Amino acid sequence: MKKAARKNANPAARHPVKRKKKRGAELKQHALEILARLKKEYPDAHCELDFETPLQLLIATILSAQCTDKRVNMVTPDLFRTYPDARTLAQADVAELENMIRSTGFFRNKTKSLLGMSAAVAEKHNGQVPSSMDELVNLPGVGRKTANVVLGNAFGINEGIVVDTHVGRLAVRLGLTNQTDPVKVEQALIALIPREDWTLIAHLLIFHGRRVCLARTPRCESCVLADVCPSARV
Ligand code: SF4
Repeated sequence: MKKAARKNANPAARHPVKRKKKRGAELKQHALEILARLKKEYPDAHCELDFETPLQLLIATILSAQCTDKRVNMVTPDLFRTYPDARTLAQADVAELENMIRSTGFFRNKTKSLLGMSAAVAEKHNGQVPSSMDELVNLPGVGRKTANVVLGNAFGINEGIVVDTHVGRLAVRLGLTNQTDPVKVEQALIALIPREDWTLIAHLLIFHGRRVCLARTPRCESCVLADVCPSARV
């Protein structure tokens, strides 16, 4: 009895995932099918951070770590008004800046990143956010994921694929990779998705991850990918 109750308490046990590893051309075809269906499902998929300039997107992306885009979008209008360029942000009063971004969490580290990044942009790049991966990842507080967000959405450059928590989770659930390290997930997706869709695929997976393929309780019953997803619980 106890054993049966334990078994039924785990939804995954009631719907065991049958994974048959896809290889080469079959895997690519699978990825293209997913891409096509998600494009149809989310024709307006886009970056949900509000911005008008590369610097604003860079600031918003730094703030979005461990925070919702919605919360970031509540904080940035004031921030962008108060610090309209890299030089003014670099000279911000630490306590004042911390206070402005406090609600996004990890505000002390984020303040350090914003001050370091803006000082480097002001001094080494004449106030303009650089548009190459190498230069971006050399800015304080900027990693590959942030650089990919800025390149893809502010400059329209498909240099890589943004792998956040949603992209990483969905890539595994959909059988596109069994890697969990973001850099390896990115390399796996790069090999499967046409370059012109590298920025878009991240938006599509993020839209789907936020609306349907939720972390704890994926809504497989209303998922357009259910019949091709190896993790579907329907
Ligand atoms: S079928 Fe379920 S697990 Fe697969 S992508 Fe859809 S919601 Fe996620």
